[in-house]
Amino acid sequence: MTQHYDLIAVGGGSGGLSVAERAARYGARCAVVEKGPLGGTCVNAGCVPKKVMWFGASIAHTLQEAPSYGFDINVKEFNWSALKTARDRYVHGINDWYHTYLADSNIDEIVGTARFVDSRSVEVEGNTYSADHIVIAPGGAPMVPHTPGAELGITSDGFFALDELPRRVAVVGSGYIAVELAGMLNALGSDVTMLLRREHLLRTFDATLRENLTEEMLGDGIDILARTQVKQLVREQDGSLCILCENGQRLEGFDELIWAIGRFPLTQDLNLAAAGVPVDDNGYIPTDKFQQTGVAGVYAIGDVTGRAQLTPVAIAAGRRLADRLFGGMQDRHLPYENIPTVVFSHPPLATVGLTESEARDIHGEAVKVYQTRFTAMYNALTERKQKTAMKLVTVGAQERVVGCHVIGPGADEMLQGFAVAIRMGATKSDLDDTVAIHPTSAEELVTMR
Ligand code: NDP
Repeated sequence: MTQHYDLIAVGGGSGGLSVAERAARYGARCAVVEKGPLGGTCVNAGCVPKKVMWFGASIAHTLQEAPSYGFDINVKEFNWSALKTARDRYVHGINDWYHTYLADSNIDEIVGTARFVDSRSVEVEGNTYSADHIVIAPGGAPMVPHTPGAELGITSDGFFALDELPRRVAVVGSGYIAVELAGMLNALGSDVTMLLRREHLLRTFDATLRENLTEEMLGDGIDILARTQVKQLVREQDGSLCILCENGQRLEGFDELIWAIGRFPLTQDLNLAAAGVPVDDNGYIPTDKFQQTGVAGVYAIGDVTGRAQLTPVAIAAGRRLADRLFGGMQDRHLPYENIPTVVFSHPPLATVGLTESEARDIHGEAVKVYQTRFTAMYNALTERKQKTAMKLVTVGAQERVVGCHVIGPGADEMLQGFAVAIRMGATKSDLDDTVAIHPTSAEELVTMR
């Protein structure tokens, strides 16, 4: 017998859980289908365990800097395995919490892989479930290239499974994951080499951010090889990895190579053709502004849509979709502009809105930029003079702020409030009229000339 729901979410990650949770609050009868642990990439192999590792890496930096503040310390060792055990326990606690939370919210948990039977029903482990609304939210997985020997490398999933700190690591890629993993491993004691296929890391970010980050990473001892593409990966007799590059370079002696070259959507097993849901050439599901796919009653949210692959985006899109379907909010949807985001590098960087170059392409001469670069007070005493850099991008006579970019200690916690102001249309004079908080780095954002 087919069980019928008001809404089925395919995927128990940030997007699927959020849409079901909000819909259930409106009284909708909901189910979530998930074959793995609840919480998806963010909880199990992304944001959450990453942030734990980032905290560990930040402590490593602090310990290095402690003598500058008068501490005579002797750090005996860093125990990777102890950190991993504590981290995994924390993650499992979140998984358990989700089971209870779904039960308490009257949301059915269906374990297995969903395959569409038609646009109104899915089959999971031999049982069929139908719904008025089906939300596709299976997320994505890390890409591995077709390079010979590529299987000898690992991805971010493999990073989280590592039982010990690799002595020497190559990180291939130049985006969020490459930068974050390279920074953490370096801080915790690995010898790290980054291989970029083009000139810059974080190519799509504002130049201020990527230039300052590159300088800091080089200063921390990370080797950054630009325009270096992997041609082949070979396991040597001594067990180490050798990287043969397209430019003829031969890089030897690595314990691990991490592919961090992007992610792909997990749409292959869903039998989308049975529902008539179109996908693009890369497997992503195109949606309109209401997260609606090409088929009535079928929606897609999160990484599978290929837009702004960030946990809070999937959550916001899911909640708004439920508000629209069950909460009577006809026009409720997520606008994809002005989405703030942080890269947990060392130091962290935070960004919202247009980069300077995007603003100039759109608004030309109407753009005015304010920027500053300074040594934060914390770093005044430390041996290494890490720089903090900030940029405000404004437009027009009113100097409406359309972009805000910050790199430096505390940038990660600094941006959220400024993102609210920018979303509300703040101008440069609104920032200037705000009383500064002293002494902080953030005060520079309201005192820039
Ligand atoms: P990204 O898309 O951020 O970066 C991958 C980059 O790797 C590409 O932009 C490309 O840069 C480069 N690349 C692509 N193919 C190759 C190749 N064959 N060889 C070498 N380099 C290659 O992907 P990530 O995997 O880093 O992260 C996926 C997504 O997850 C992010 O976009 C982000 O949305 C999300 N994420 C968010 C985090 C956060 O919020 N802090 C943390 C981690 C992930 P180029 O073209 O310049 O060479």
